[in-house]
Amino acid sequence: MIKRRGLLIILSSPSGAGKSTLSKRLLAWDDSLTFSVSATTRAPRPGEIDGQDYHFMTPNAFKRAVAEDGMLEHAHVFGHFYGSPRQPVQEAIDAGRDVLFDIDWQGAQQIRNSALGQHTLSIFILPPSIPELHRRLVSRGQDSIETISKRMQKSWDEISHWGSYDYVLVNDDLDRTFEDLKTIVSATRLRRLQQPMLVNHVRKLQTEFEELS
Ligand code: ADP
Ligand code: 5GP
Repeated sequence: MIKRRGLLIILSSPSGAGKSTLSKRLLAWDDSLTFSVSATTRAPRPGEIDGQDYHFMTPNAFKRAVAEDGMLEHAHVFGHFYGSPRQPVQEAIDAGRDVLFDIDWQGAQQIRNSALGQHTLSIFILPPSIPELHRRLVSRGQDSIETISKRMQKSWDEISHWGSYDYVLVNDDLDRTFEDLKTIVSATRLRRLQQPMLVNHVRKLQTEFEELS
């Protein structure tokens, strides 16, 4: 019997606010978490590994996967397609494991509105300031000046959706934010909805009560 119902944990933020860094920490903290490796049509960045960071796909392969209902959600971001393959998510959830998503607001909205919606936990990461967001994008050293300026222009679009998330964290001090993130995940795992086995436990308590009289 499944002990606990798996959670779909969604992290979103404007690019550069720190969601990849926080995702990596969360995965290192709890190795039972499954990371949803997204599919994308963008080119790999230096150091990115196919199948680990992303499934890198051609636009045609991506469109085919969408047509075959193979994506739990998908969106067009920064001129490229991104999507979360459905099968690995379903397998993990069925086995009672939590799945972590690093996706944008459009994907978060689609998952919230899907059949798995009630099992989502969505967290939005805000930067402490816009100059600091820019500084982080530059310090990451992975994008050209042109790409950084494109990402900065899209930031407000992403930030404007902060109000749809269950929790919002301002990622100023990384350690502090990570502590808050762990607290949120730990508490949500204890939600009644995630613990279907409680029904059996309460039935047992009822039987024990009846035996008393
Ligand atoms: P995102 O995944 O949201 O695009 P990253 O996790 O790649 O952002 O973070 C962007 C850059 O900012 C990285 O170089 C990362 O090390 C750095 N960073 C993340 N969080 C903090 C923080 N709280 N303080 C300072 N730098 C940070
Ligand atoms: P990057 O190219 O920097 O890795 O990601 C760009 C943006 O696309 C980020 O906001 C990231 O969260 C989002 N993204 C990555 N994968 C997915 C996905 O599978 N679905 C959606 N909707 N957005 C994604």
